[in-house]
Order: sequence, then C-alpha cells, then structure tokens
Amino acid sequence: MRRTLAAGNWKMNGTPEMLADLATLTGGASDNAPQIIICPPAPLLTRAADATENGPVEIGGQDCHTNAKGAHTGDVAATMLKNAGASAVIVGHSERRADHAETNAQVRAKAEAAYAADLTAIICIGESEEERLGPDCLDIIAAQLDGSTPDGATADNTVIAYEPIWAIGTGRVPTMEQIIETHDMLRTKLTARFGDTGAQMRILYGGSVKPTNAAEIFKAENVDGALVGGASLKASDFQPIIDALAAS
Ligand code: PEP
Repeated sequence: MRRTLAAGNWKMNGTPEMLADLATLTGGASDNAPQIIICPPAPLLTRAADATENGPVEIGGQDCHTNAKGAHTGDVAATMLKNAGASAVIVGHSERRADHAETNAQVRAKAEAAYAADLTAIICIGESEEERLGPDCLDIIAAQLDGSTPDGATADNTVIAYEPIWAIGTGRVPTMEQIIETHDMLRTKLTARFGDTGAQMRILYGGSVKPTNAAEIFKAENVDGALVGGASLKASDFQPIIDALAAS
C-alpha cells in the first residue's frame, strides 16, 4: 500500500515567523497518517528543520544543482539540502522549467543528484494549457515522465508530481476525468518501466489544491497525495488538506 503524501511548496515565500505555524501541522494518529513535507526557500531550511524537529513534518528543498559542488553562484547542491535537514527536494517544477529553461535531461540529472545525497526527488511534470487542448496531451506528459525520471528511480527515492501548468496558482483544476485519466496513464507507464517499484511509486496531483476540493481529488485511485503551493503557506489551509488525505 502506498503511503499518502502532502507536500507543500512555499516557492519564494516565507518568513521566520511562519515557522511556528508550520510546526503545528499533524498527520493524525491513525495508521493512515500521511507523510508531510514542507519545502521552504533555501535560507529558511535549517530554521524550518529546527522548528519541526520533534514533530511529523519533514523539510524539503525546492531545487538542487546537478553537481555536488563547484563554481555555480547562487545554486545549492543536494548534499547541502541534506545537511540542512531536508529529506526531499522538488526538481523540475514548471516555474523552474520556465524561468531557467530547465530541460527533461537536466531535471533527470537533478533527480540523480538527489539520490546521491540520499534525498527523495519529487519530480514535477505537467502540460501547458495549449497542450491540454491539443490531441497529444497524454503523450506529451508521458514523454516528460520518461525524460525526467532516472533509470535508478524507485518507490523509495522518487515521487512524481503531476502539475498541469495552467492549474498552478490559478484556482482552476482539471476535471476529475482528466485527473483520473492522467494519473492512470502515469501509473501504467511507471509500472511498465519499473515493475513492482513503479506500481508503488507515489503520484501526487498539484495545481490549485484547496481545502474545498482536496477530498474529491483524493478519491482517485492513483492520486497518492498533493503538491500544494498557496494553500501550504498557512497551517489553517494546509491542515484540512492533510486531514482530507488521512480520510481518503
Ligand atoms: C505548485 O506551485 O506546485 C502549486 C501546485 O501551486 P498552487 O497550489 O498554488 O496552485
């Protein structure tokens, strides 16, 4: 059985004052308790790790470099995230693909860097609105999955986050039919490529997940949780999403 995961992406938001709120998040006491990972901006990682030290919340990075060290001003190596207390790192978020022209091959190399640092890679993929409206949408997403996921991916070191670009931060969400169809396709591809470990790999949905729509989205068999942006910034928004996951 796949353990559900609620992952929060704070993007370029966050202050030291927000960390106490973060520490109040709970997965609940049941066997169904979701894993919780919050990804604050890199400068807040150590403080976030300290603030959540005695609770269920894990900390993740939002990106890492492909190299372990070197002359890459402004970048962060996966081992640095690990040393700061992270257990995971998001790679290939659509904002990084757009702002920094990251390719599938680079995202794949970043995931490999994450594995080398003993971090779980949360690999993001997802289509543009134009691609969603075209005839090849599922093929495009499948090609992203294939190109962005290393051969060494396992259910332990990798989480896939399906995030339609047009749904991120817009309040718009695909229909349940579209979510189910896409996640089922991803499961089929992962199982075909990786066998049992592909069947166990978690697939998150991301894009305008809110307390009001989370329970409906989590009904889908191959939705194993969510990658949440805006609604992860306050515990009062994120906790109901975690609770919906625990109840799913
Ligand atoms: C995201 O940034 O990954 C995201 C899903 O954002 P939001 O939940 O705000 O749409």
